[in-house]
Amino acid sequence: MSERPRVLILGGGFAGVGAAQKLRRADAEVVLVDRHNYHTFQPLLYQLATGLLETTAVGHSLRDLLERQDNTTVHQATVTGVDLDAREVRFDELAPLTYDFLILGLGAEVNFFGTDGAAEHAFPMYTLPQALRLKDHLLERWEAADHDPSLVDDGVLNVVVVGGGPTGVETAGAIAELYRAVFARDYPALPQERARVILVEAGPELFSMFKPRLRRYAAKALEKRTVEVMTGAMVSSVSPTRVTLKSGEELKAHTLVWGAGLQGNRLVQSLGLELRRGNRIAVGADLALPDHPEVYVLGDVAAITDSKTGQVLPQLGSVALQSGEHAGEAIARRIAGKAAKPFRYRDKGTMAMIGRGAAVVQMLGGRTMTGRTAQAAWGTVHLALLPTNEDRAKAVVDWAGTTLTHQRVGRITVRDE
Ligand SMILES: Cc1cc2nc3c(=O)[nH]c(=O)nc-3n(C[C@H](O)[C@H](O)[C@H](O)COP(=O)(O)OP(=O)(O)OC[C@H]3O[C@@H](n4cnc5c(N)ncnc54)[C@H](O)[C@@H]3O)c2cc1C
Repeated sequence: MSERPRVLILGGGFAGVGAAQKLRRADAEVVLVDRHNYHTFQPLLYQLATGLLETTAVGHSLRDLLERQDNTTVHQATVTGVDLDAREVRFDELAPLTYDFLILGLGAEVNFFGTDGAAEHAFPMYTLPQALRLKDHLLERWEAADHDPSLVDDGVLNVVVVGGGPTGVETAGAIAELYRAVFARDYPALPQERARVILVEAGPELFSMFKPRLRRYAAKALEKRTVEVMTGAMVSSVSPTRVTLKSGEELKAHTLVWGAGLQGNRLVQSLGLELRRGNRIAVGADLALPDHPEVYVLGDVAAITDSKTGQVLPQLGSVALQSGEHAGEAIARRIAGKAAKPFRYRDKGTMAMIGRGAAVVQMLGGRTMTGRTAQAAWGTVHLALLPTNEDRAKAVVDWAGTTLTHQRVGRITVRDE
């Protein structure tokens, strides 16, 4: 170990990168480890899957993000175990590392709630490879129908999206726009009006986290985009070509996108800590573990109680980024012999895009926005979350292109021959 304290950051998501950036001037050896060598911008994965953005606008090299920090090293490795008492972390392809401070920002993963066939056949939307796999799969279904139009009767073009929260609504809206505005022109011989996009939600309404006005707005905006909404419906099993609901109804669909549930990274179950609902670890007001003040738990894997409302904060990019920045600053202060401050979350609003010109925003105080104003607010918040100005520029160019021309990027499938 070097003489400087080592800050080991697990996870290069919003939380991990936010923490690392705030430690750039600290007198510390900062080591960030992620199983990927890139940072994934999860809120825009659905835009990658539907050709609204290029891969490089959604994934950014972690080494590039942190290369100007002389005190920081990046490793690509998978965390396999954390020993809180020995202050040591084990990896798959990297020698174990000890630490003086640990930042746990390993994020969330999909939860299929034991749905039969979902792990094998559903398309979740939590990682970059998953978004690219969905993009290829959709294109391949249209190419298959082009070869054999009788497959349309079997539901080859139909997509079922599970989950009436922001991920499901955004994905369903974007796929419907891709179908109606782009694939309708790319495949003029196919009856695109028979390509159904069905959004299935178990609860009585979509967008349960939003006010009724925003729920009504979203339902109308989806209808306008020809998305069929089924509420009070639960998926019980999935096969490559069929989706069966708990009611027994069978939907013909060769694609099922899963946007219904997530849970904290399963690794947290091995830490011997008490877990909250959804595999999340409860942290103190400073975001550290009460029994291990050298360990900070952040972002999606943490249950952070908001000091203003007393509620556990939602799993959002802005919560992860702010918690990461706070922990980075707190550790830098402690290394400098100063006292750390408690975490205060600054609400940026809860928001979702439904399609071109259609979005909803709800602020903590209750203020709401819809339509183009909400879309502009959504764009501003998401651009601010992107890690570099280069990424912001790329996103603006791609968004401007698709808004003006209705075109989508990269509608090609590249395979081994
Ligand atoms: C489809 C989707 C849409 C979303 N839309 C929005 C939105 O519009 N607005 C918003 O604010 N939030 C949105 N969110 C939520 C937001 O993306 C998350 O809250 C945020 O990414 C959490 O940040 P994090 O740093 O905690 O975790 P993550 O960003 O998930 O980062 C965790 C990192 O840990 C790494 N990792 C995981 N396991 C291991 C391991 N064993 N070893 C090594 N590395 C590991 C991962 O590779 C990843 O880089 C969305 C999420 C999803 C999935």
